[in-house]
Amino acid sequence: MKLPNGTRSTKLDVANTNGRKGLFALVSIDKDEILIDLNGENTFLSPTRRSLQIGEGKHVFGRDETVGYLNHSCEPNSFLDFDCLCVRALRNIPAGEEVRVNYSATEYEMHDSFRCDCGSSACLRLIRGFKFLTGDQQLELKPYLTPYLLKKLDEEISRSRNLLESVL
Ligand SMILES: [Zn+2]
Repeated sequence: MKLPNGTRSTKLDVANTNGRKGLFALVSIDKDEILIDLNGENTFLSPTRRSLQIGEGKHVFGRDETVGYLNHSCEPNSFLDFDCLCVRALRNIPAGEEVRVNYSATEYEMHDSFRCDCGSSACLRLIRGFKFLTGDQQLELKPYLTPYLLKKLDEEISRSRNLLESVL
């Protein structure tokens, strides 16, 4: 069933975790399931602390503050899928687990950088946005990047190629 615009899945709810709010799975969720539909949401020119970037000068908040409660993980269980403009499960999510996305795959430059304690062995510790990742880290995120960041990645690659050619 397609969710009404801007409405989070009835399978999710907001709860407190470590002194902040997060979005949690109430029941087990299947891989590829749509969790939040962002179609028809208002977009904003600049990022806020709780928005997701969907283009250059295009940030979306989500009605019911849905997106606002999505916390970051360096090894997330969900991602922003641009084919449907929705947040989609990256793998099966058991009931009780927090739904999280990788902010570095959507945000070029974070509104506020922050220290991450996601516990992943791949944790970057300081989350500042895609712009601040190393070339290898940027390439690793390629399958999950928004079209805007994919364009940025291509620009980075051609820039370093030109740089290399100018040295040779
Ligand atoms: Zn982390």
